[in-house]
Amino acid sequence: MSDGVRTLRACNEGHVLRYPEALDDRANVEEVDLAFCSYCPCRTVYLVVISPGEGARVAAVGGPQLFEWLEEQDWPRSTYVGHDGSMFLYRMVPSPLDLILAFE
Ligand SMILES: [Zn+2]
Repeated sequence: MSDGVRTLRACNEGHVLRYPEALDDRANVEEVDLAFCSYCPCRTVYLVVISPGEGARVAAVGGPQLFEWLEEQDWPRSTYVGHDGSMFLYRMVPSPLDLILAFE
């Protein structure tokens, strides 16, 4: 398993969100949607969803309440630990449809 990093374009300032490439692999292999929240350097919060075969996309954009919203979801937690010991927290999304409905 590599410690590769994927990037996803965030805002119009040219900032990018970074996440472990291993999450893409897990989504594809286990055919599960994964989600995480990430800050942009300009302090915008992004809720990112990684879907099998589709990769990552921004599902919602907002403020710190997005972190709280994700905390409130009863979704299994997971942690990716890189070879350098860095940790990346994310969730498994049991029902991707709920996520779509929540932000439409
Ligand atoms: Zn930004």
